[in-house]
Amino acid sequence: MTKIKAIRGMNDILPDQTPVWQYLEATIKRVVSEYGYSEIRMPIVEQTDLFKRSIGEVTDIVEKEMYTFDDRNGESLTLRPEGTACCVRAGEEHGLLYNQTQRLWYTGPMFRYEKPQKGRYRQFHQVGVEAFGMAGPDVDAELILMTAAFWRELGMSDAVTLQLNSLGSNQARAAYRDALVAYLQQHFDQLDEDSQRRLESNPLRVLDSKDEGTRAILEQAPVLTDHLDEESASDFKALCDMLDAAGVRYEVNPYLVRGLDYYCKTVFEWVTDKLGAQGTVCAGGRYDGLVKQLGGKPTPAVGFAMGIERLILLLETLELVPAAARQTFDLYLAAEHKGIQAEVVLLAEQLRRAVPGMRVRVHCAGLKNIATKARQTGAAAIVLVKRVEDDSIQGSLWHHDETEYDVSPEQLIERLRTLFGN
Ligand code: ATP
Ligand code: MG
Repeated sequence: MTKIKAIRGMNDILPDQTPVWQYLEATIKRVVSEYGYSEIRMPIVEQTDLFKRSIGEVTDIVEKEMYTFDDRNGESLTLRPEGTACCVRAGEEHGLLYNQTQRLWYTGPMFRYEKPQKGRYRQFHQVGVEAFGMAGPDVDAELILMTAAFWRELGMSDAVTLQLNSLGSNQARAAYRDALVAYLQQHFDQLDEDSQRRLESNPLRVLDSKDEGTRAILEQAPVLTDHLDEESASDFKALCDMLDAAGVRYEVNPYLVRGLDYYCKTVFEWVTDKLGAQGTVCAGGRYDGLVKQLGGKPTPAVGFAMGIERLILLLETLELVPAAARQTFDLYLAAEHKGIQAEVVLLAEQLRRAVPGMRVRVHCAGLKNIATKARQTGAAAIVLVKRVEDDSIQGSLWHHDETEYDVSPEQLIERLRTLFGN
């Protein structure tokens, strides 16, 4: 019989990898809570229209990347390709956005039908952060400073750089779009096929093109920064000033436009040159129009999302995972001889209660070569348990190449408390 395999581009995260995930997630959770953000959890499936209306019909995501299917009742559903639209939907539905401010974060799997490769998968994970009801630029700065704090905590500040741009108001962008289209039409034949198509449907995305011929044409193209409305320009300057004052370095990149329709004003990306083509680890920006576009009252909003798989790859590449983070248990407990399995299980219970936080794994298989097997587990400490003449039990404790023999359960508790107690 052929064995059933996982879906292409959808990965199992195996037990040797989950400690790294937990380390990254714990670090991120600590930082978002230090910034006063609350967690929200949304379903992974939504009505297809939610994404069509928010991300935009002529974006890559909606045109060709969504996992869309009919529910049994004929309703079109989509596995979420990103979280912002879901977060706005949930916030609106539960009255969290009207006339108030919200600072929210979430994490979970996202789904896009893309060509799987290193750093690009069909099921991938994001941590998203969204702030509602604040027009910026102070909250824009707060979010960017939070992202800088992630990299600092993870020890990767030197490996990532911040790219920054302002897309301006919707009006300013419309005026710029006309200027851009007029210019690009003069060079239509030199553009790549994708860009020719986008010139009609979504001309700003041409700025994002990776095609060399198109990039050459773009060098002479009108620049978005010259078309900013007054408010966007002064907000952008204020944001840059705050980042300067906080010591966060950035590069203004006038070609940075982001692939989703809902952005305006501030947009940013953190990129690394350590992961090849999939170098963007975090991306976001302001989306003041989206809440209204989805049926709510006009509400300023700004947010970002990080790609967890890419951050894990970066942690591994730069060898930034602390050894302690990989240790999944502290003590390995085994019988030294037959006939005392029950005592070992009960001793483990006693130890867990006496030393809160200590992580104990009990050996429940054959006892041949038990000392060697126990060492191979990589445990920080090992206890081999035996029965002595008066029928009580004693242990031998290995820790850091030191061995203590004939230790009573009480002595053991005391020793383990000093080693692993919290
Ligand atoms: P890219 O240009 O790499 O396709 P994107 O602009 O489509 O990225 P966003 O929608 O802004 O990405 O998502 C935010 C982040 O989520 C990205 O910067 C990236 O780190 C991560 N990400 C996006 N798509 C994938 C994917 N298919 N696999 C793994 N991570 C992804
Ligand atoms: Mg993409």
